[in-house]
Amino acid sequence: MSDDVYLDYNGSAPLDPRVLDAMMPIFQNGVGNASAIHHPGRTQAARVESAREQVARLMNASTNGVVFTAGATEANNLALQGLTAASQAGRSRILISAVEHASVKATAAWLGQEGLVKVDIVPVTAGGSVDLDALEELLGDDISLVSVMAANSETGVLNQLDVISGLVHECGALFHSDATQLVGRVSIDMSAAGVDAVSISGHKICGPTGVGALIATRTTARQLRPVLHGGGHERGLRSGSLNVAGIVGLGAASALAAEERADEGNRVASLRDALVSGLKEQLPEITENGDPDNRLPNTANLRFAGADGEAVMVNIGPVAVSSGSACSAGALEPSPVLLAMGLDREAAEESLRFSLGRFTTPREIDEAIERTVTAVEYVRTMNGSA
Ligand code: PMP
Repeated sequence: MSDDVYLDYNGSAPLDPRVLDAMMPIFQNGVGNASAIHHPGRTQAARVESAREQVARLMNASTNGVVFTAGATEANNLALQGLTAASQAGRSRILISAVEHASVKATAAWLGQEGLVKVDIVPVTAGGSVDLDALEELLGDDISLVSVMAANSETGVLNQLDVISGLVHECGALFHSDATQLVGRVSIDMSAAGVDAVSISGHKICGPTGVGALIATRTTARQLRPVLHGGGHERGLRSGSLNVAGIVGLGAASALAAEERADEGNRVASLRDALVSGLKEQLPEITENGDPDNRLPNTANLRFAGADGEAVMVNIGPVAVSSGSACSAGALEPSPVLLAMGLDREAAEESLRFSLGRFTTPREIDEAIERTVTAVEYVRTMNGSA
């Protein structure tokens, strides 16, 4: 990479060179449509099937339930549209949490606008996880699907999937979880967690962008209806010629994540903690957004009181951080995740997300501390609040 100190892994993680190595032969020699019956086509199909196994292994899932997509946005669309389309009569409501990614929120909103379902939003606690009491109150035998993310992109806060799935299944509904931010960083066993379908994305786990998967249990996969219709690829659940290089990359990234995430988590958590304590030593009035005892090892979301986050980003030099989720960057509205946690507008606007990962070094953390301190002090002085 360049001289950038890249601390935006939750936005998009850099491609691991070992993943690129796995993909290169497909770019160079991987001729053939994976659904063709000639030899090159069958070779491509075999590559896809071995990637399917690697992806399934990442969460101890069944290979039969893996549907390759063009990323987590598509996987979330497939889960929400495809599972509500098959819901039983009388089950006309779905629940999503207040801090879901836009691809869950907007899909649910669209389903609601079309009159296909009624959508209720489950609030989160001040710590950023789903309010379990509120969830219990909203559940009922008219619910077809509940979608709650495994880990939040902006705060890293984790949800208790096993507890949520217990509640959801008690009322006979399906449970989908957007695990895009979790899978590369924390281990997950789909059956132990009781999740019926999970969304993942290549570029959040040091794999390629533009590829992901919906992983459903066998039974759930049988209920799923397609969103993309056409030639009947992926057992009719996602038509379109398969992106073999991308899928091989997702498989390789999944295999590396399964092997390395425990050690990597420990290493990255100590760098993250050094970053937070280094900043707190040099700057007053920093608060952490989201429960620090219940979050991903790589994420810290910090409020620098009196310093607008966008202004800090402009002055922070080559340090890449985020002032909201990267997916909603560009919009001037403060982070809806932080607002849903009860922060006021000003507090949300003064917050920045630092997300670390596989290639983050101690030297980069030192530089990030130095640059952030200088930028925050400068912005505070300009505002007259220092
Ligand atoms: N869900 C979450 C939690 C995400 O963080 C993202 C990416 N920002 C997505 C879904 C969308 O993933 P993709 O970019 O693969 O469509």
